[in-house]
Amino acid sequence: MELACLDLEGVLIPEIWIAFAEKTGIEELKATTRDIPDYDVLMQQRLRLLDQHGYGLPEIQEVIGTLDPLDGAREFLDWLRERFQVVILSDTFYEFAMPLMAKLGHPTLLCHKLEVDEKGRITDYLLRQKDPKRQSVRAFQLLNYRVIAAGDSYNDTTMLKQAEAGILFHAPQNVIDEFPQFPAVHNFEDLRRKFEELSERF
Ligand SMILES: [Mg+2]
Repeated sequence: MELACLDLEGVLIPEIWIAFAEKTGIEELKATTRDIPDYDVLMQQRLRLLDQHGYGLPEIQEVIGTLDPLDGAREFLDWLRERFQVVILSDTFYEFAMPLMAKLGHPTLLCHKLEVDEKGRITDYLLRQKDPKRQSVRAFQLLNYRVIAAGDSYNDTTMLKQAEAGILFHAPQNVIDEFPQFPAVHNFEDLRRKFEELSERF
């Protein structure tokens, strides 16, 4: 039995925080774990900035609702779901991803969760577990699935290592150089071919 695990941001949809920063003009929200390696410090800064600019969850969801999946992402995902059971493993939050998941046909998504008060203010965030992408792949393997995984960044590499086959998609050159063991492809056509190639069923 085979299962396909896909990263979300940078693979199927734009980077949510960066797209949100562009839509709202809040430059500081473009910071990522490359600028602030401590995820907790980064998230606290993001929540503070949202507060300062008066963005609660409803306003954020409205802005995110104007974003679209990457070109060709929906078609690729439909193709993949006809051939594999697909689970999306992401470090985003359900509350942010949902408007975009509707545009992808509501695939299964495992990610994190926000705490929101009755006025819609984001008060905190809850990470599902440590190293969640790798832990998910491990759990599927315990269920006797053989996993083929694809992602674009550092937070995907433990998932790619854990999977029986890992693919880098849309990855920046530094990630490709640092992880030469994973094949790297840059468009959905090649990604389809990689999935077929690495599958035991085609
Ligand atoms: Mg990503």
